[in-house]
Amino acid sequence: MKKILLSLILLPNLVWSQSHEENIKLIFDTELSNGHTYENLRYLCKEIGNRISGSPQAAAAVEYTKQLMESYGFDTVYLQPVMVPKWVRGKKDEVKVLNSDKLGSVELSALALGNTEGTGTGGLVGEVVEVKGLDGLKAAGDLVKGKIVFLNGPMDPTLVNTFQAYSGAVGQRGSGAAEAAKLGAKAVLVRSMSNRIDDIPHTGNQRYNPDYPKIPALAISTQDSELLSSLLKDQKDLKVYLESHGKMHEEVLSYNVIGEIRGSERPDEIIAVGGHLDSWDVGEGAHDDGAGCMQGIEVLRLYRELGWKPKRTLRAVMWMNEENGLRGGTEYARVAKEKGENHIAAIESDSGGFLPIGFSSTGTDKQRQKLQSWKSYFTPYNIWKLDVPGGGADIGPLRDQGPLLVGLHPDSQRYFMYHHTAADVFEAVDQRELELGAAAMTALVYLLDREGLE
Ligand SMILES: [Zn+2]
Repeated sequence: MKKILLSLILLPNLVWSQSHEENIKLIFDTELSNGHTYENLRYLCKEIGNRISGSPQAAAAVEYTKQLMESYGFDTVYLQPVMVPKWVRGKKDEVKVLNSDKLGSVELSALALGNTEGTGTGGLVGEVVEVKGLDGLKAAGDLVKGKIVFLNGPMDPTLVNTFQAYSGAVGQRGSGAAEAAKLGAKAVLVRSMSNRIDDIPHTGNQRYNPDYPKIPALAISTQDSELLSSLLKDQKDLKVYLESHGKMHEEVLSYNVIGEIRGSERPDEIIAVGGHLDSWDVGEGAHDDGAGCMQGIEVLRLYRELGWKPKRTLRAVMWMNEENGLRGGTEYARVAKEKGENHIAAIESDSGGFLPIGFSSTGTDKQRQKLQSWKSYFTPYNIWKLDVPGGGADIGPLRDQGPLLVGLHPDSQRYFMYHHTAADVFEAVDQRELELGAAAMTALVYLLDREGLE
């Protein structure tokens, strides 16, 4: 008896069970009965709201997450400075068909794409040439000169992983304006990146080619894309008016927000976990990516609540400016390299706060096999898909430093109903699904911490 008591006193963690299964059950039980993730997300969405980089709300989100992590008593909480672009949408975006024989004048649901230069007051009018994605634009060639190009390539509905469908279609949003400008077009309209037909326009990033004019680029809803396409079939001289006021301002000083619990045995080995704190300037950035940030903080909070001391150093990271620049992720990796830090793994949740079904990853075969060898610990929680390739945008720049990169992989069927829209609000997130994601990430961090990847 005396011997047992003594060993208990000497053990750093009185509450550790020797069994991974039991410890992981404790993580899920604690999160599902007493999690903070949902309430913290509510605060971020409702009290701060959307938070595009360089905005006052982004600065408020930096302050909020810093204070939140301090209130949980993490060992260190600090800000990592990073310069970010500041794009401001300005007044309401407008797209209007002016002369439809069938319908007269018709307003279309539209949102200017991020980083675009607006038309300014007075707008612009032009005839429209419809093309299917970037390949269609290439084929149209000189036909688009002096016209408004309508890039109407849909996401492929047959792909069950909707992120694959997104990847297949998003090129027209990212570089449609740059490519159309090369051909002398005066503006672009882009079909919203959504796999259903509705009236919600989706904004998102686009990149100009500095050697060509910065022409206005706006997304229109899938429903209005279908409408415009059908009107164009009957009437080639259809004229469209568009007005937008986007403007790029001087860069602004912002921050990645980092909270740390120092490892007790191998403090130099780091496991980073988190999401991106910035969002687009519509909705509340709930799924994208308030959810991932709050889940990342929750991983470390659960360690505190359970009284667990990690062997390795755990780091919750809120990266800044994923949406229109990736400056935070890039700077984080640069500083890590400069300091000679050793990340064994970096985990990002940036696929929405939906029901987790697995993890995506990028790494060596050995690292990925180790991850997959833990499958049986996750299957009791309906998490089974551990072989998906992937990771996350913000952790990508760490790649050449050799850590295993992991993305939380939730069910993706509903993500593109909300992505980059006014509909991405707190109410669109389910508490149970969000918490299961936080618990899954904590369980993975736990296994990485206990077992390492060797
Ligand atoms: Zn995101």
